[in-house]
Amino acid sequence: MPGIDLHTHTTASDGTVTPRELVRLAAEAGLSAVAITDHDTVDGLPEAMAAGRQFGVQVVGGVELSVADGQRTLHLLGLFVPEVPGEFGAVLARAREKRHDRNRLILDRLAGLGIGLDYGEVLELAAGAVGRPHIAAALLRKGAVKTLREAFERYLGAGGAAYAPKTKMPMERAVGLLRAEGAIPVLAHPYQLREKGASLERLVAGYREMGVMAIEARYSEHSEAQTREYLALAKKLDMGVTGGSDFHGAAKPGIRLGRGRGGLFVPEGLLADLARRREGFRPAGWP
Ligand code: AMP
Ligand code: ZN
Ligand code: FE
Ligand code: FE
Repeated sequence: MPGIDLHTHTTASDGTVTPRELVRLAAEAGLSAVAITDHDTVDGLPEAMAAGRQFGVQVVGGVELSVADGQRTLHLLGLFVPEVPGEFGAVLARAREKRHDRNRLILDRLAGLGIGLDYGEVLELAAGAVGRPHIAAALLRKGAVKTLREAFERYLGAGGAAYAPKTKMPMERAVGLLRAEGAIPVLAHPYQLREKGASLERLVAGYREMGVMAIEARYSEHSEAQTREYLALAKKLDMGVTGGSDFHGAAKPGIRLGRGRGGLFVPEGLLADLARRREGFRPAGWP
């Protein structure tokens, strides 16, 4: 069975590969389907979908959102997002605006540490949703750090000296918006919840009640034991399963499309099950 990849980033957010090139790489890697899940934008979808028709790869529209569940922050993927979204498009545009405010706050903090970085220098490196990886790249280009990793460890990561938190959408609202677009809300990379066993089950059962429909059980950073636990949980809670690499091109070295760090495989068969689950709530006539 061919493999697929349902979690990737392009230059429309913080990946380094254009949507067209990413789809070409997916074809070259023998993947039959790829989802483009850029942070806070669907602007890469039209180009990716056109490339999908050219290269014979099914392109699934997607997006990745940072959301808040009380004090907890997590990532949601939306899969089967339409190429041209409705009300959701305006919500994403506002999220990208808030990114600018946060990015400028980070630059203020960097300035306070004696690192002068003009926001224009960051924007030069971005083509869509702008975020910390672009600031990291600007710091690297300036010679303020030697690697992207160092930029996150010293300055931009959660414990970093210039860190500023992102404004997150309440999870329930994000789930509702995705479903209103006919998209499947997916709990992304569940290892980041740092829960297992009964407490994981309680948490994810609550998310299912909220409208989350699938778990990204197969992911580049999951151990075999974690993958097994997430697959079993999806089965127990009657939720769908997705999987992806979180490919970012050179922005995440070591992660290959469809293969993650080498041990990832996402079977094509997952897509049919996801489509069936979507039939259950998608109003007739929707894309
Ligand atoms: P932002 O959306 O602006 O908060 O940036 C988050 C993105 O930064 C993630 O999706 C990753 O691509 C990247 N990132 C987060 N932490 C690190 C890290 N420690 N090293 C490299 N990249 C990171
Ligand atoms: Zn990213
Ligand atoms: Fe994520
Ligand atoms: Fe991601």
